[in-house]
Amino acid sequence: MQKIKQIQQLINEKIQISPLTKLPFKHAHYPNIELWIKRDDLLHPLISGNKWRKLKHQIYHTFTNDYEGILSFGGCYSNHIHALANAGHLFEFATHGIIRGESQNANNATLSLAKELGMKLTFVNRQEYKQREQQNYLLELQEQFPRHFISPEGGSHPLALVGVSEMVNEILKQVSFTPDYICCPVGSGGTLAGIARSISEKTIALGISVLKSNHQLNSQVETLIDNDQKVNWNIEHNYHCGGYAKVSTELKHFCHLFEKNHHIPLEPIYTGKMFYAIHSMIDQGKFKDGTKIVLVHTGGLQGLAGLKERGLY
Ligand SMILES: *Cc1c(COP(=O)(O)O)cnc(C)c1O
Repeated sequence: MQKIKQIQQLINEKIQISPLTKLPFKHAHYPNIELWIKRDDLLHPLISGNKWRKLKHQIYHTFTNDYEGILSFGGCYSNHIHALANAGHLFEFATHGIIRGESQNANNATLSLAKELGMKLTFVNRQEYKQREQQNYLLELQEQFPRHFISPEGGSHPLALVGVSEMVNEILKQVSFTPDYICCPVGSGGTLAGIARSISEKTIALGISVLKSNHQLNSQVETLIDNDQKVNWNIEHNYHCGGYAKVSTELKHFCHLFEKNHHIPLEPIYTGKMFYAIHSMIDQGKFKDGTKIVLVHTGGLQGLAGLKERGLY
């Protein structure tokens, strides 16, 4: 119990409430649409925004159940793996990453840092990686790593929703109105599910999928919300810009311009696609004038190093 108190205290010291700011934005046809940004990219310099929200209660769970650490899954540029390695280093628990791909990627920016921070890495081929949600594979892993809590890819465990709820409560305290929409990018669905579960029926949780025609995402979110009859959420599937980690010229241009105009850094894999989508949907008249939209800047800026490494951005 003592240990838990220490961890809680350390967490409260290291991670504070992120700011919420209004974007100077006036659309020619819809001058009263308001865009607000929840700056979760500023939560912590090393532990990326929504990955922290999702991990927090899994870390408590790890300590209360006397696990040694957390094992999870990710690609070789994964923001989740990066955040987990940093969290393990900062809060002193072991971390193990099951990484999709070959060990030749072990020295890229994301993974070499993870190793430096003490994370153990196991590289598995695509076939094995595909089994990451199968019950028998997970049981085998748990036998192999009995002292590790196993967190799914992207950290989207049901406990992730608790941390995301805390973010929503922060937002509701920071604004003096009821938002019409709270928006976030969607990869594995935990963030959107957490938002959907915590808002009243006056607000819609709108997710922008960063994956190409992955309509399975809708049932993933539904499962995470635990079917508690929530219908106030929606996923927009038309802004993947070519697919996961693909960057169109238009998107790149949008992100650069946005950064220049607002001095808010974006990366094009998640947050760039969301901001781009919302601007484009406003242009298309999808929101009526006067709509108040809160956009969650989910962080992910470490991913830029990997994109630059590969000459993609
Ligand atoms: C992982 C990630 C997301 C996607 O969140 P999910 O909960 O997996 O849907 C969004 N933005 C950033 C920056 C991320 O790293």
